Amino acid sequence: MAGILYVVATPIGNLEDMTYRAVRILGEVARIACEDTRQTRKLVDHFGIHKPLVSYHDHNEAERTAQFLAELEAGSSIALVSDAGTPLISDPGYRLVHAALDAGITVVPIPGPVAFATALSASGLPTDDIRFGGFLPAKSGQRRRALEDLRGESATVAFYETPHRLLDALDDIDAVLGDRPVVVARELTKLHEEFLRGTAASIRAALAGRPGGVKGEITLLIGKATHAVVDDSPVEAAVAALEASGIPRMDAIKQIARERGLPKRDVYRLVTE
Ligand code: SAM
Repeated sequence: MAGILYVVATPIGNLEDMTYRAVRILGEVARIACEDTRQTRKLVDHFGIHKPLVSYHDHNEAERTAQFLAELEAGSSIALVSDAGTPLISDPGYRLVHAALDAGITVVPIPGPVAFATALSASGLPTDDIRFGGFLPAKSGQRRRALEDLRGESATVAFYETPHRLLDALDDIDAVLGDRPVVVARELTKLHEEFLRGTAASIRAALAGRPGGVKGEITLLIGKATHAVVDDSPVEAAVAALEASGIPRMDAIKQIARERGLPKRDVYRLVTE
């Protein structure tokens, strides 16, 4: 009889979040496929699990998939884990799961933490409609284009972000999406767990002043616009109103272009003609 491929979620920081079932399954399989054997070694040692660890990551996926399939078909069960959280969620594993299903192998999920779901659950943002976008692009131009796709998005959107890119990402969110509700969830389940709630601009301002910069693991959530902007006044009048409130003309043009979903140059032309 063929073995079973278990897809096992592990903690995202706090080892107390390991499930009883995950501990049992890791103790029962023939071997554990993991991203970084050093990282998983710490986990299995903590729970007294003594099973061979085999690396499975982006660079050896193809070769390892063939090897694991042969073992599964020969009757051995394998557990797939990632460094943290649920495998396949911004982590390796898709190729193996897909190939196992193609080969008629049973794939069993062992559920547990996922960083974006954990962040959402205490964010205070609506959770009736959720979109997960993985990691935002590293380059600002591509990131802004990705954010532009969210202008009409009515779901709460979750992204993973690195600490060194967070301030730039918040700048781009502010520039492209304006004052949407934003939540930054940092170091979830760990000693320094923190939620920052506000807009991209207010959170950026709060973080920018921190000595030593932003550290730790980051999940970024963007809520839908709190108010539908139904402003059908002429574009020129809307810009003039902002200027009258003290906002410099170019900033007013940018803001109106963003709010109306128009190219900046069109708004500029209407205002200057
Ligand atoms: N498979 C994982 C899951 O189920 O959430 C995600 C893996 S992905 C490679 C790692 C990213 O998830 C981090 O860079 C960070 O954006 C987010 N993340 C992981 N642990 C986190 C934590 N404790 N707090 C906040 N974000 C976390």
